[in-house]
Formats: sequence, structure tokens, C-alpha cells
Amino acid sequence: MADASDAVKIIVVDDERDIREGIERILKRMGFTVFIASQGQEALAILEKETVSIAILDLKMPGMDGMELHSRIRAIDDNIIVIIITGYATIETAIEAMKNGVYDFIPKPFEPEHLRIVVNRAHEKLRLTREAEKLQADRERTLMDLDMEKSRIRTIIESLPTAVVVTNTAGEVVLMNPAFLQSLDLDLSLTPGEKLGSYVSDDGLCNMVEKLSRGEFDKDGEAPTHEMKVSDNKYLMARGQPVLNERQECMGAVVTLSNITSLKMLDQLKSEFVAKVSHELRSPLSTIHEQLAMVLNDMTEEEVDVDQNLIERAKEKTHGLISLIGDLLDLSRIEAGGISHNIQSIQVVELLKSIVEFLGIRARSKKQTLGIELTSDEFPLINADPMALESIFGNLIANAINYSPDGANIMVKARMAEKSIQVQVSDNGFGIPQRHREKIFERFFRVKDANTRYITGTGLGLPIVKGLVDSLNGSIELESEEGKGSTFTVTLPV
Ligand code: ADP
Repeated sequence: MADASDAVKIIVVDDERDIREGIERILKRMGFTVFIASQGQEALAILEKETVSIAILDLKMPGMDGMELHSRIRAIDDNIIVIIITGYATIETAIEAMKNGVYDFIPKPFEPEHLRIVVNRAHEKLRLTREAEKLQADRERTLMDLDMEKSRIRTIIESLPTAVVVTNTAGEVVLMNPAFLQSLDLDLSLTPGEKLGSYVSDDGLCNMVEKLSRGEFDKDGEAPTHEMKVSDNKYLMARGQPVLNERQECMGAVVTLSNITSLKMLDQLKSEFVAKVSHELRSPLSTIHEQLAMVLNDMTEEEVDVDQNLIERAKEKTHGLISLIGDLLDLSRIEAGGISHNIQSIQVVELLKSIVEFLGIRARSKKQTLGIELTSDEFPLINADPMALESIFGNLIANAINYSPDGANIMVKARMAEKSIQVQVSDNGFGIPQRHREKIFERFFRVKDANTRYITGTGLGLPIVKGLVDSLNGSIELESEEGKGSTFTVTLPV
């Protein structure tokens, strides 16, 4: 139905005044704005000023007839819907007119109802056409917006100072910005399309990206990172993130690189400083320690009563300091890559047995059992620095003894896995609370609670272990439950 608020404009052209004005009345009542004209020229003059949507034309008029007026109107505005009024004798002409683009015709004489139906139909067509045009315009605008948005995002990524690379699920590069190419000293004219490995030789970065692209990542965990050395004075940190769609399906990976050279340099300076200070402190401290031992040895009975406790404590403290310095020097050496100089073929099992035997004395003093179990028949030799292996397993077993109560059980298990040896050191001691697990391999980190309060240590044992395991291309994992015990598993390639 026509709606008055549409304010659709209709022109009625008929030489018979009664019909013209009759139609005008009906249409006005329907809510349309109506213009009337008695012949073609008058109608064209109105059309020059007004934008009309529907034209109702009498076919037979003196001067310009309805058909001619129809084609003149078409020339002015092709969108005007034309309805022809015609007597019975000219129905054939009316059909011909419709073939030429006239929308409908009304035979004379007609009932007002018939006129209303035809005009309403034309009005409905008008409405649908406008709606379709609006939808089309909306669609074109959205597409244009999308296109603009796409090129805007592209421009932003291209100009980002941060290096960015994006891959698809097959691990192929779909985008890399100039900062990425610059960071890795790559040719700026390189174009995406290949696997990351075709552009970058760092295996760690490529593996990280491949895994992320395939959707292999820890949903609740932190974004994986990878540190890489581009040259002697350029270090980068890669941070990756899977790209997920709204259904949380993986569509690829995005990786950013940041330059951490200055942090690395600072770290190196700090390590060198620590190494120097430690080195300088070691000999005077050792001398004091030895002299205290001599004083204790040479004490008379009266002196023992008075001073022995005091000097014993001083000797213990210097011993603590000497081991801290030893640990600091070990760490510095590992960080400087100066460990593993003395590579030999080693039977790991034999080495484990000797450590267990040596530390067995300490375990027995706490009434603990310390056993070793071999679950494979044969163990191949591995190439490593024996000092490094001794330090790894010595630290882990000593920790198991230290952080377990009297009477605890400690077990060292060795077994062959695929191309590697796995050594597990388990205890049923205090365990490590979940919230500390991430930090346990950090320097100077120690769990501080009622169980550990009186246990002395430096917090450097596990960082040393981790550094040595890494230098042997191995891995270390921890499973632990508070109050139930801990298991450290070291995997070393053979
Ligand atoms: P340190 O033993 O000198 O304190 P470590 O780096 O070897 O330093 O260990 C760090 C901390 O980890 C320890 O202080 C202790 O709280 C905890 N820890 C290490 N091993 C164990 C273990 N087997 N059971 C329980 N806690 C442990």
C-alpha cells in the first residue's frame, strides 16, 4: 500500500479534464503528491522542474500523443514508471507500448479501485527498486571500506618499526615487512610465498613457526619465544603467536622480532664483572678457610672450650662463600661457552654409580636410601665433558638429599630412549610448589618456606644444571608435587 509519508510524486496527463481531475483526487487521497497537465508540452515543462516517479498518460491526445510523450519522458529520466490510459479500441497499441517499456495500462472507462490497484503496484515496484539500489550501494560501500581497510592495515604493517612475519597453516610466508627483512639482513626485494626456511637459516625460529602454523601450541601458556644470534653483535628475540579465526581454528602464525643486542651486551658485561669479582675473592677466602682449619687444629684444651664453636661457625660460613664463588665461576664459564672443553667418550652409568656412591655418605647421615636402577641392558658411550656430567647429576642428587626429610627415598634411574639416554632423579621429599616451577631454573631463586628455611644454598645449582644440559643439546624436565616429592628428568642425546 502507498504510504503518504513516501511523498511519491505522480504526474497525470490527460486532455479530458474530468478524468484528469478525477485521477488527481483519488491519488491525493492515497497520499501522493500529484501534478496534472492537459497535454504533452505542459507535462514536459513540469518535468523539467519536478522529479516525478510515476507518470500516468492518456494515449490519445491532440498534439503530442501518449506514446511520443512516453519516449520524451524516457529521454529525461529512464526510471520514471509510465502507466498508459487507453480506450478499448487501442488495446493493441497499449500492448505494443508495454513492449517499449510502459509499465502498465488502464483501459477506459475504469473504476477508481482499478486505478488504485495499478498505481499501488507501480508504487510497490518503485519501492523494491529503491530498496535494491540501496542494498547495492551499501554492498559497494562495504566492499570499498573493506578494500580501504585492507590496504590501510597493509600500509601500517609495512611501516611498522617492529619486524613482522606471517605464515599460513602450511608454514609458508604470506607477509613479511621491510623491518623483518632488515632485521635479518635479508634482501629487501624478497617476496613472500616460500617456507620460512627458504629465507632464514635459523632452525630454532623455523621450527617454532612450523609448529605454531600447524596449530601446535599451548592454549593457556605464554607465547613461545626464541633467541637468535644473527651476527657477533646482533641478537634477536622472536616471539610467536598462532593466528586464530573466530571459531578458534589456527590459520597460521605471526612472529615479531625484537633486537635484544644491548640487553645481551649488558648481560655479558654483568657476567664478566661477576666472574672477575668471584675470581678475585676466591684465593683470599680459601686462605682464610685454611687458616681457620689450622687454628682449630692447633687449639689447646682451654681454647677449645672457649672458642671452638665460634671458629667452627666462621669456617662453615667461609666454606659457604667459597662454594657460592665456585658456582658463580661455573655459571660464568657456561655462559661464556667455555665449558665442555674436555670432551671424552663417557659411560654415563659408571659415572652415575660413582656419584651415588660418593653422595651415599651424605644420604646415610640423614638415614635416607639412595639407590640406582638401570632399566636398559646396554648404554652406549656419550661424548661429553665428564666434569659437566658430574656437575649435572651431582647437583640434582645433592638437591634430592637436601630437600627431603630424614628417612626419605631417593632413586636414580637410567634408561635408553630414542637416540638418547634418560636419567631420572626422584625423591619423596618436600616437592616444589606449582607456582615456583617456572622460576626454579633462574639464578639465585630459592623456595623459601618452613621446610627450606634452615637449608643453606646459593640458588645457582639448577641454573648451572640447565646451562650444562643445554650446552650438551639435552633437555631437563621437572615433575613435582608439594609434600610428595620431585622428579628431574635429564635427556641427553647419544
Ligand atoms: P640451592 O640448592 O643452592 O638453593 P638450586 O638452584 O639447586 O639452588 O635449587 C633452587 C631451589 O629449588 C632450592 O632452593 C629448592 O628450594 C628447590 N629445589 C631444588 N631441588 C629440589 C628438590 N629435589 N626437591 C625440592 N626442592 C628442590
